Amino acid sequence: MGFLDEKCECSKCCEVHLTYNLHCIDFGREDKYPSMLDGVYVSFKLCDPCFRAFDKKCPKDSNDVSVFPDEYLYNFIKTFPLEHQEPIFNSGCNTYLSSEDWIRDERGELSDIEKREYGMIV
Ligand SMILES: [Zn+2]
Repeated sequence: MGFLDEKCECSKCCEVHLTYNLHCIDFGREDKYPSMLDGVYVSFKLCDPCFRAFDKKCPKDSNDVSVFPDEYLYNFIKTFPLEHQEPIFNSGCNTYLSSEDWIRDERGELSDIEKREYGMIV
């Protein structure tokens, strides 16, 4: 399978497209304390319609994360299915949850015992 045949899901709507038809948004990971995106690995892929919806609302020349309003970006990422939020908020960061448990925690399915084991609560 060559590069041009590679397929990938849109991070927002999960439709599968050829990777080169997707828009790659990659702001990387930055120290942005006290932003909600502090240390978060902001990288995702969008299909054309989702990219247009994203781009319409974002300020001009906003490929630079330092001028991109974090709140808008954060809220946009929070509309992704949990499977696509996970690499951004969990495995792309210095966090300690497995991908599966992060998703379970977001769904409120993690028990207090498990949370204690992870050191999330004392
Ligand atoms: Zn999409």
